[in-house]
Amino acid sequence: MSSFLFNEIERLKRIFNNVPAGIEVYDRKGVLIDINLKGLEIFGVESSSLVLGISILENPNLPNVVLSNISTFLTLPEQDKRDFANENFRDSFSFEYSFDRVFSKKYYKTLYKKESKYISSKIECYFNDNGIFEDLIMIFLDETDRYQEQLELKKFKLMFDNISSFGKVGIMEHNIEEDTFIANEQWFENFGVLKSVKTDLEEVYKYLSMEDRLWIKSNYKSVPFERIPLNTIREKQFEVRVDGKSHWIKCVWLLFKNEYGDNVILGSSIDVTEFVEATNRAKESENLKTKFLENITHEIHTPLNVIVGFSQLLVDTEDLDEKMEYNRIITENNKILVKLINNILDYSKMEAGITKVENEYFDVSALAYDLFEVFKIQNEKCLTCNFLSNQESIIIYSDKNKIRDILNNLLNNAFKFTSEGFVELKMDDLGQEVRIGIVDSGIGIGKEQQRKIFDRFYKLNDFAQGSGLGLSIAHKLVNLMGGNLRINSELGKGSEFYFILPKKRD
Ligand code: ADP
Repeated sequence: MSSFLFNEIERLKRIFNNVPAGIEVYDRKGVLIDINLKGLEIFGVESSSLVLGISILENPNLPNVVLSNISTFLTLPEQDKRDFANENFRDSFSFEYSFDRVFSKKYYKTLYKKESKYISSKIECYFNDNGIFEDLIMIFLDETDRYQEQLELKKFKLMFDNISSFGKVGIMEHNIEEDTFIANEQWFENFGVLKSVKTDLEEVYKYLSMEDRLWIKSNYKSVPFERIPLNTIREKQFEVRVDGKSHWIKCVWLLFKNEYGDNVILGSSIDVTEFVEATNRAKESENLKTKFLENITHEIHTPLNVIVGFSQLLVDTEDLDEKMEYNRIITENNKILVKLINNILDYSKMEAGITKVENEYFDVSALAYDLFEVFKIQNEKCLTCNFLSNQESIIIYSDKNKIRDILNNLLNNAFKFTSEGFVELKMDDLGQEVRIGIVDSGIGIGKEQQRKIFDRFYKLNDFAQGSGLGLSIAHKLVNLMGGNLRINSELGKGSEFYFILPKKRD
């Protein structure tokens, strides 16, 4: 052999042994005839003599398709081999390499035991100058570390996504220099859009008000980085309005320079709808309370002044007709005052949780009928009064006094807010339950106000007489007895307040 050829072979051998990939060479029958150092290291083999001679077709780890392709290839007639190889061994492939399987199949002796590696591999076929197939070469890369890292990354991403969707936390990063925008799914969800809108910022923020979108443009998209100190934090709460429904998102942005010196905005957004709604409710309740206190002073003073004034007149006058009229006025205002004070006391008791339910057997239809008769007598506006019951008597086991109070309140309102037409009291025996409805053809209540009607101190008209506690008390009492007070109403047409009670409760 010439020294040139010798040097060339030595050089190739050095390359063969020092490339950072495992290389195996199999002969025409698929028998291993050579393996480089990296190959021995990857498979934990101490010396090549321990593996030379094994057949590739017995490899317990190669994917089945690969094995069957190799098997087909080795048995194909010479002239078909090249085409087959070009077609089937073109792509690299990855697979899990289990040393446990190597051990149990006694494939070869390895230092590894139970562990697995993640290998990516490529098959090359060597054809000599005459086009005859000589060797099958397998190249291996140990991707275990990379695979583990990817796995960890995937797990972390999953965990991060779970946390962010659980807490509704959106995260985004906008690199101003490169104009790249990346964000997690929740960021888009918080703004009511789909992730597919990607980097089209106009689209991402399309459900914000015009004013907020302008704010974003001037404060966020085109940040005057040269004029603001780095690490500046900006905060803003946005109302996101999709299909007429609002939710609130609070955003925090940090402006900073990343490790490459690029100006970057890092943002987080969180859904604060529940918090905003609770705050609004608290504010509304606070306003109502203030209004109530102002109102109650007026409500108490008016009948009290009337009572005091007319009592004096009653003493002073000798005229019998006048006496009777003053007496009527005093009695009426007494009633108003007593009702007001009772309402306040009832409500306070309920708020304190000391209202007791005292059940007894009684005929609720008879109770309603008797009460309705009293209202009929006082029916000054001459409204048509209908009492309808599908059973003559409906016996229930419930709190009679509370039902009387509820009916009293609802009937009182029905007569108060109806100037012409009718008031109807409807009883329906439903078997296990009883439905009680009070219908009127009065002023009715608009949809928006129906939602608030059972709130304490709520009055549709601030000048209407009363504390605005009656319905709230009735609602709570019905709840206490296992029912729910509901309303059907149309503005200008009338209302129905109804509730369904179980006939007997444990
Ligand atoms: P109050 O205790 O002052 O009588 P309520 O809580 O019973 O107050 O009622 C609250 C408000 O609901 C009333 O001021 C009135 O505006 C409205 N309302 C109640 N019942 C009716 C009804 N049948 N028709 C129209 N409005 C009603």
